[in-house]
This record gives sequence, structure tokens and C-alpha cells, in this order.
Amino acid sequence: MKLYNTMSKKKEEFLPLEEGKVKMYVCGPTVYNYIHIGNARPMIVFDTVRRYFEYKGYEVNFVSNFTDVDDKIIKKANEEGVTAEEISKRYIEECKKDMAAMNVKPATKNPLATEEIGGMIDMIQTLIEKGYAYEKNGTVYFHTRNFEGYGKLSHKNLDDLQSGGRSLLVSGADEKEDALDFVLWKPKKEGEPAWTSPWGEGRPGWHIECSEMSKKYLGEQIDIHAGGEDLVFPHHENEIAQSEAANGKEFAKYWMHNGFLNIDNRKMSKSLGNFFTVREISEKYDLQVLRFFMLSAHYRSPLNFSADLMEAAKNGLDRIVTAASNLKFLHENANTQEMTEKEKELFASTEKYVRQFEAAMEDDFNTADAISAIFELVKFINTQTSGENSKEFLEKLLERLVKLTDVLGILVEQEEQMLDADIEALIEERQLARKEKNFARADEIRNDLLAKGIVLEDTREGVKWKRA
Ligand code: AMP
Ligand code: ZN
Repeated sequence: MKLYNTMSKKKEEFLPLEEGKVKMYVCGPTVYNYIHIGNARPMIVFDTVRRYFEYKGYEVNFVSNFTDVDDKIIKKANEEGVTAEEISKRYIEECKKDMAAMNVKPATKNPLATEEIGGMIDMIQTLIEKGYAYEKNGTVYFHTRNFEGYGKLSHKNLDDLQSGGRSLLVSGADEKEDALDFVLWKPKKEGEPAWTSPWGEGRPGWHIECSEMSKKYLGEQIDIHAGGEDLVFPHHENEIAQSEAANGKEFAKYWMHNGFLNIDNRKMSKSLGNFFTVREISEKYDLQVLRFFMLSAHYRSPLNFSADLMEAAKNGLDRIVTAASNLKFLHENANTQEMTEKEKELFASTEKYVRQFEAAMEDDFNTADAISAIFELVKFINTQTSGENSKEFLEKLLERLVKLTDVLGILVEQEEQMLDADIEALIEERQLARKEKNFARADEIRNDLLAKGIVLEDTREGVKWKRA
């Protein structure tokens, strides 16, 4: 299996640190709002990478953090007059709902930065003791020039950074010894969350969070570290400096970065008015369509989002789902059980689509080509199956199709619809709850139904419901 390593700028053969296991860390979102469709790209892409490793028989330890202490969270909390914790808790919950709807598997662990402060303080201490960090008036800085390999991931050289990137690196009136130094710990400002540390009350810098959480949940050395390409510099470069300086070992063997998602060929931004949250997209499309759309391009290429491309993704996905449901229909109505010799041969001939799918995935997770292999299998299903086939043949074809679509996290088997009687029983229970002034339960029922696509409307004639 080959994957592109940002560190070497080459496709490399994947060799795990430990036989049969993959340790993988993906930088997660900062939770101050609903996630946008750009944030969804690394979630979908690296979930697919994980799924392919699992398909190959690896045990994957998949860790992805939530950055739940940050200027943007504090700003939002101040605007709403609530605590930063309330904001981050709310949007972590909302993010998990979006991830579930995109069929992103839950991580082995989702550490929260605010729950790992002790470990971060220890790591900063180690860096100070080893001569890589220093404190000035409550701020701790990493002494970038003391780490020899600085710049090796982003392929930048220190002197270019010093001159060219000055404005980027110097953050106002601070007291760092060198413009290249970055913050590990910052002192408390009025109205901000803070923790006690040897350098006074304050909070950690963003980069140290990931170095510590990766170490705590995966160990000092990991196989894959991943995120969007904007994280290469400075975030991942700084993570490498911190982790390797503190642990004295190579941090991650492979660095994977997804390309950016643009909208109508422009950078997505609130000010341009071309900004979509995943939640907004879910009002128009099943999020399976968004997932399919994301995987229709190579993960390292820029990806353009547009209404036309989403329609094309919807049609493509429909073709696969229809083939699966036709197979199920034929299977239910088939008259014979076992495969004939001819069917055995035909089934064996579909093995080539599996090989084609795997070859695409083994070539740096080329999901676009993997989807083409699935379409070829779909074409085979559409042209080679009929009411004459045996149950076994139809079942095996469906199994083969589902096995491949599962790797991409694409669900082809539609969920059972809720029965009318079950809906009405819940509505009755809700009415009763309201009568008893148990509004919490009443709201819960309304929300549960909504999650299943059932919308309630309170009218003068009573409660009406419809399927959304
Ligand atoms: P953030 O919350 O900004 O730290 O972003 C969380 C993840 O989303 C990071 O891996 C970013 O690189 C990624 N990301 C943010 N915007 C985009 C975008 N427009 N396209 C692709 N990935 C993005
Ligand atoms: Zn990170």
C-alpha cells in the first residue's frame, strides 16, 4: 500500500510501526460553531483511510481531538453571555451529529484539550528542562532555532521564514527572544478560562495540545498524522518540533494532508457569502451525498463544491443504491437457492472489480478510481441479473457490492422506515407528557422523531405529522 508523505513529498510504501496495527492522529475542529463543509473533508477522507486499513485487517487506533479552548470560542461565549465550556460542549454535540449523518465512524478516542492540561504542562516543563523553551512574564515560548529539524515538513528554511514570514510569526508586543519562537503557554486575560501552572494562571497554545494528546493516547511514535493542508505550517511543523524535542524520537512516520474545498472555484469565506455548514447542506441533501461527492475526487486535489457537482454526486449514488435494492428485490423473489455452474463463473468474473478497487485504494487512496470500479460492478449487476437467478448468486453479488461501498462509508441499504403506528404511539406519549407538564420528555420525543425525518405540527385540530 502506498501513501503520499508530505515529509518526503513522495508516495511511500506503508510499513506499520507494529505489525497489524495503525496508530493514527487527525487534528480535529475548533468547536465554536456548526462545522462547515471544508471541515467535513478531512473527517470523511481520513475516516475512509481508516476504513481501508480495517478492510485490510489492520487494527486502527484512531484519535481525533476537539480543540475546546481557543480565542474564537471565548469570543462566541462573550457574544452570547455564556461560558466557553457551554459553547464548546454544544458544538461538540452538534459536530458528532453531523459526523454520524456523514457515516464517519466514532474515533477510538476524542480527547478534549481542556481535559488534558496537566499533561501539556508536563510536556512544556520537559521542553524547558531540555533547553528548548523559556518563560518570559508568564508566557512560555518554544525556542525554534534550538530544534534542528525545524522546517522539514513544510520544506521551509529558517532564514526565509525569518525574513519573508516575519509578519506571520511576530504576534504584536511580545517578548520572544527570536521572531521564529512560538507560544507554548499564555497568561490569563480577564474573562478567559485559565488553569494553574508553574508559570502562573493561563492556558496552553494550540500546537502543544495535539503533541500531548497524540502522545497520551497513541504513544511517542505514531504511524500517521493527518489534517487539512493549511495545517502543514505552522501547526504540524510546530507539533513536530515540540514532540521530537521532548521525546527524542521521530514523531510520525507518515504525514497526510487533504486539499482544500472551494466553492464555485473561490475560497470559502463568510465575507464572500459562499460559506456552508454541513447542517445547511443536510437540509437539501442526505449527507451520504456529501460524502460521496467528497470521495469522487482525490483527497490531495483541490475540490470544487457546486450545486451541479452535488447533483451529479446524487445521481451517481442513486445508481449504486438502485442496483443494491434491485438485487434485494430479485433475491426475495428468486425461485432457486444454489448457484448454477454458469453463475459461479459469472460471480468469479466480478473478482476483477474488487482487484481494481483495491489497486486504486492502494495507490494513495485514489477513491475516484475506486468509485469507478464500483460503477463497473454496478454495470455488471444491471446487465447480468434477472428473475432467473438463484438466491445465492444475488446474495453474493450484494455482499460484494456492500463490502466495497462500506470501505468508502457509503450506505447502500436504506434504513427501514418507521411504521405509522409507532409514530402515532410516540405522538400520544408526547401529548400525555405535555399534559403532565413534562416538557423535557415532550421535546425529546419531538426531536427523536425529527431525527428520523418525521415533522410534527401542532394545529387546532390536534397534532399532525408528515415525513420530511
Ligand atoms: P479548524 O477547525 O479550522 O482547525 O479545521 C479543522 C480541520 O478542517 C483541519 O484539518 C483543517 O485543515 C480542515 N479544513 C478547514 N477548512 C477547510 C477547507 N476549506 N477545505 C478542506 N479542509 C479544511
Ligand atoms: Zn493538531
